[in-house]
Amino acid sequence: MSVLVKDVLLDGKETNVYIEGDTITELGRKREADVVIDGRGKACIPGLINAHTHAAMTLFRSYADDMKLQDWLETRIWPLEAKLTGEDIYWGTKLACLEMIKSGTTTFNDMYFFMEEAARAVLEMGMRAVMSYGLIDLFDGERAEKELKASEKFIQFVEGLKSSRITAALGPHAIYTVSQATFERVGEMAADRGLKVHLHLAETQREIEQSKEMYGKGPVRALEDMGVLGPWLVAAHCVWLSEADMRLMGESGVSAVHNPTSNMKLAVGRAFPFEGLRAAGVNIALGTDGASSNNNLDMLETTKLACLLQKFAADDPTTLRADEAMRLATEGGASALGIPAGKVEEGSLADLCLLDLQTPAMVPFFNPSSNIVYAANGSAVDTVICDGAILMQNRKVEGEREILRKAGEIARDVVSR
Ligand SMILES: [Zn+2]
Repeated sequence: MSVLVKDVLLDGKETNVYIEGDTITELGRKREADVVIDGRGKACIPGLINAHTHAAMTLFRSYADDMKLQDWLETRIWPLEAKLTGEDIYWGTKLACLEMIKSGTTTFNDMYFFMEEAARAVLEMGMRAVMSYGLIDLFDGERAEKELKASEKFIQFVEGLKSSRITAALGPHAIYTVSQATFERVGEMAADRGLKVHLHLAETQREIEQSKEMYGKGPVRALEDMGVLGPWLVAAHCVWLSEADMRLMGESGVSAVHNPTSNMKLAVGRAFPFEGLRAAGVNIALGTDGASSNNNLDMLETTKLACLLQKFAADDPTTLRADEAMRLATEGGASALGIPAGKVEEGSLADLCLLDLQTPAMVPFFNPSSNIVYAANGSAVDTVICDGAILMQNRKVEGEREILRKAGEIARDVVSR
């Protein structure tokens, strides 16, 4: 199928975007196409990339808020997660995909469980995702074997799907929930088989202390010794880092994912060291984290909050500009996940959004990035194309009402079990 988006604003200039199959093949010329989208009064941006989330946690949206992290996990989230079924995850992921599409996200990096069901939801919704089974062994050898088997089973399942939109990855949860032996296996699998590794890293000061008690060093150096650091690693949070940690991450080619909303909501104690990581040459992406610690999956809001948090923490309004932050939310995510997307240019995957400029937040239109990041939010997104397919037009997504009804029912049922 071919799609022409005609007369659309791209980086402030009017142009035409021609898509053939899953790829943007031409910019500039008007060509005949199977589907023509009128881009007048709209701005075209790359599809946003949410580099860290737990999609099905939409089911716990606003169920438990304003609590301490450990308390929140131990008394509210983990007991509920223990009762989840594959059917729940399927509908929770459908809801997450719907919300992401409606706010301009085309790709996400997901870690959770019942991932076969989650993958089925992603396939149906037309999005792109890197998906990992959240591996937690709690330092128990028997459990480690089971968890590694579950990870392997999911990887095989994804290979069997033969979908270019879904990539399987490894998801060892964090240094305080996964043993050294398991991390070593994960590092070997990543290096040998070209698999991405998605984990939580240096989120809280407590995690640093736990790592020092267990290994005599912080988590970055401990993971380096276990063979986990490498260009395959996509590390979420990365808040409590030393200068040496940042250098090591830069040298190893690790990508760091800033989750400003989650970090502020859970009060992790300090801000993601954006300038330090950038100076160390670390690729940086943005993520929402799960909907229960955010409480939405709106990447434009996350992009704004990343800018504001960085400026506030650095006491410097010139740090993390709107246009830079947009690059983190697009190119940074694509580079972290190893996907040729994140740019609207010839040869790139056809993952893009059109934003409605006929809305108060977009008027006047002096600076596109500033309006998009600071003034607008995900509700400005009018049209979403992923892999060359139109997932939303005029803010309408197929099957929307059914997803809202069913996910709402399931969430109410889960909390009453
Ligand atoms: Zn997370």
